[in-house]
Amino acid sequence: MPRREPAKVELHCPACGRDSWLLRKPRYEGFSKVGETLSCALCGHEFASEADIPFKDSRRPMVFSEDDRPRPVKVFREDEKGKMCRYCAEYVVNPFLQRCGLHKCEVQATDTCPHFHPKPPPKETAEPESPDPFKL
Ligand SMILES: [Zn+2]
Repeated sequence: MPRREPAKVELHCPACGRDSWLLRKPRYEGFSKVGETLSCALCGHEFASEADIPFKDSRRPMVFSEDDRPRPVKVFREDEKGKMCRYCAEYVVNPFLQRCGLHKCEVQATDTCPHFHPKPPPKETAEPESPDPFKL
């Protein structure tokens, strides 16, 4: 059976203050293994036990986590979606902001507006509405 490479366990080392990873070495007393040495791979700081290791798993340095992400836009009800600015003929989008051409103001694609008037849906958001081949 091939030995599985142990996953690199990331941690934030309190001794050197860097994002490091765990170095796990068997500790011997004489010829018998008595335990493991858990240390920082960068500075060699030894952790007394696994419980003392500030693992990074719980708080990743990623800017976006699954929780931070805004709720998907797909959950809009159909009638709401029908009035959303992104589907409006007055909706103007450029790389930095989205504008309403009618009210001359900044809007969000998901805003809704009572003055909405529809435009043909853009290609990339159009649902594949292929005609039913079985329908005559
Ligand atoms: Zn360290």
